[in-house]
Amino acid sequence: MSDIKSNYQQVKARINHACQQYGRTHAPKLLAVSKKHSLNKIQALAGLGQIDFGESYAQEGAQKIKELFDLALNWHFIGPIQSNKTKIIAENFSWVHSIDRMKVLQRLLRHRSTIKQPMNMLLQIKIGDEASKSGAKIDEIYAMAEVILKSEGGVFRGLMCIPPPSHDFATQKKYFLQAKEVYADLATRYPSVDTLSMGMSGDLEAAIESESTLVRVGTDIFGPR
Ligand SMILES: *Cc1c(COP(=O)(O)O)cnc(C)c1O
Repeated sequence: MSDIKSNYQQVKARINHACQQYGRTHAPKLLAVSKKHSLNKIQALAGLGQIDFGESYAQEGAQKIKELFDLALNWHFIGPIQSNKTKIIAENFSWVHSIDRMKVLQRLLRHRSTIKQPMNMLLQIKIGDEASKSGAKIDEIYAMAEVILKSEGGVFRGLMCIPPPSHDFATQKKYFLQAKEVYADLATRYPSVDTLSMGMSGDLEAAIESESTLVRVGTDIFGPR
């Protein structure tokens, strides 16, 4: 567990360093991606002050949320969403980052409508060439935003993206700037928009230069899965 502490400090130092380098006065939020990692590790990180955790599998995440209820953590669903998992996601998580189609959005809203707290919703935007598998096209993003705005179950908080993997900083940045441009337009239209979820272990710096407000880090904190 001492590994987790030093890993965590290193990731935070990396974020702070990138903020200084790129003139960012507000650091992005750090989401600790705990999928496939144990309750013990999550508890250890929570003990160091981490509050936001991300999970990619609905059942696994819901189980952890129940077991760790007393810690009052913020849980984000970030994985691909199958229609038949929308109920378990809507009933357990306070954030969802990976909404990529209307059908899934409508099901999440319907399942959330019976719960007092609306769900914080990010739309996953398709970035890069046609080869990139996940995410919605720009016109679908705007259509889904309108649906959230008219709903009771959701608050529209912004965008998430997972660009095609690249080790080249300039390529990483090119992708992130595509998301940032759409995000900036949405933020001028919708006052509730304040979150741009992009950047992982391998491309944190490029995301921070591109004004990400939330980075999602798993491996560099918890070790390999
Ligand atoms: C697993 C995952 C991450 C974390 O990836 P690491 O490479 O372990 O840091 C971030 N975002 C999403 C959507 C993921 O599924």
